Amino acid sequence: IRRPPRSTPLYSSAASDVYKRQLQSPADLRVVGNYDCASHEEIKSAMSKSRIAQTKWAEVPLIYRAELMHRVIDVIIENQDHIMNVVMEETGKPIQEAMSMEIFSAIDSLAFYAKRAPKWLRDEKRSMHGPMSFLKKTKVTYKPRGVVAVITPWNGPFILSINPTIQALLAGNSVIIKPSEVTPRSGKLVEDIFLMADAPQDLVQVIIGDGLAGAQLIDEVPDKVSFTGSIATGKKIAKQCSENLIPFSLELGGKDAMIVCSDADIDDAAKGAVIGSCMNAGQYCCGTERIYVVEDVYDEFVEKVVYETKQLNQSSEGFSDIGATFWDKQLDIIEDHVEDAVQKGAHILVGGKRNPSLKGLYFEPTVIINVNHQMKVMTDETFGPVISIMRVKSENEALRLANDSYYGLNGNVWTQNMNKGMNLAKAMETGACSINDMAMSYGVNEAPFGGIKQSGLGSVNGKEGLRSYAHAMPIIIGKKSASSYPYTEKSFKDMKGALKFFWGNKFLRRIWG
Ligand code: NAD
Repeated sequence: IRRPPRSTPLYSSAASDVYKRQLQSPADLRVVGNYDCASHEEIKSAMSKSRIAQTKWAEVPLIYRAELMHRVIDVIIENQDHIMNVVMEETGKPIQEAMSMEIFSAIDSLAFYAKRAPKWLRDEKRSMHGPMSFLKKTKVTYKPRGVVAVITPWNGPFILSINPTIQALLAGNSVIIKPSEVTPRSGKLVEDIFLMADAPQDLVQVIIGDGLAGAQLIDEVPDKVSFTGSIATGKKIAKQCSENLIPFSLELGGKDAMIVCSDADIDDAAKGAVIGSCMNAGQYCCGTERIYVVEDVYDEFVEKVVYETKQLNQSSEGFSDIGATFWDKQLDIIEDHVEDAVQKGAHILVGGKRNPSLKGLYFEPTVIINVNHQMKVMTDETFGPVISIMRVKSENEALRLANDSYYGLNGNVWTQNMNKGMNLAKAMETGACSINDMAMSYGVNEAPFGGIKQSGLGSVNGKEGLRSYAHAMPIIIGKKSASSYPYTEKSFKDMKGALKFFWGNKFLRRIWG
């Protein structure tokens, strides 16, 4: 492949020396390992190897690519305890969430795309319309892009690394993953698992390192960047990709709103609020971060949320409901948001502080009321187990406040009136919305997933997401001679006649169109 000369890198890549980092478990602060950051030379070498692996992989028929995914399922099932242990050591996640978010979702995704990719990515005939139907045929072929760089965050360290990888591989690409420096071992598992499933050498590689390693990977001009992480980094990546016109998708942060209508089932809504805000200790991009409750049902809702929250078990062992905050910087942000809210007049009903009885990084599940949009807890991503509830006069006010945000990832609406629910959901300025359900759209493989506003660009998942890892290349096949020379008075009149025949008649144009 011939590639155009590279423009100057945006990120200073002077520090290409290998350097060591220590990993501490957020559950009990014990050291759980060390890792070396990849040097720029190693990243360059990974890119060369990836290009060679990709060329061979692109030749593999779709059904055999899908077979690899089935072998990966077997390896994950066989090694589920090991995978969960690595993830739990690095994140302090409860075992139930390690199972549901990381193992179960990964297998669900592998099986889903393995079944559909051969259909969704095979050559597709597009039937032609109007006069063109006499002259040409069109086929669309889904060509692999090449090497896909998958850059991922720490909050779903295994699933967010493997899910884009599955889609990119099925589309015929090779993959280099740059997992978060907070959870590198969970990301590395993806490479190990594919090798154990007899994937071709170098088809999936993992580069360990921090933001510099991510930037250096983009310096090597991959053919697509699939990024999941913060808005600030997403913007840097967009800038760097644009230097070389590398296609990219950005899955960024959120500040998801929940609207509770007066006719909602309040028991269900209260439970949905608690799991929506506290799942993964609140470190979920589509976590419920702010709740607007219509005043008729406000007291009942708050009472039930308080009751449900007090039932939650937070511990570093056994079947805990609320795990650790995965890294100390996030804990500082959560504390800052809660303190800011309290200083500005918010009232804490449950929790509100670090858990004093646990050694690790634990923030107590928290319920806050009397909040407003002057407080960070209602405007910026908190990413903690914090349930912030605001009383509103009407559903219209709730909608206005829900849309008063620079984020636009997800949201959820609670009502027993489906028409109203649909109208409110459609009016939410978000990439997706749920009705009577917490925002689980990332886990719904059928649904294309992607934020609007500052929450992202492009989409992953579903048919659209899978196809975004390929270039949809139309191949036009001529049925008649291509030449329309010479241009003559007759050929011009024939064209005028055709115009009148096909489009001049109000009824026929509906048929030919
Ligand atoms: P982050 O942006 O700090 O880091 C994400 C990844 O980018 C890491 O691997 C990091 O090393 C790398 N990186 C940092 N600077 C880079 C650069 N200049 N060039 C290339 N790579 C670079 O995000 P985080 O703190 O790890 O993750 C938390 C954020 O991710 C939250 O905002 C959360 O909402 C968001 N998130 C979004 C989704 C989604 O699907 N929309 C899913 C999960 C998490």
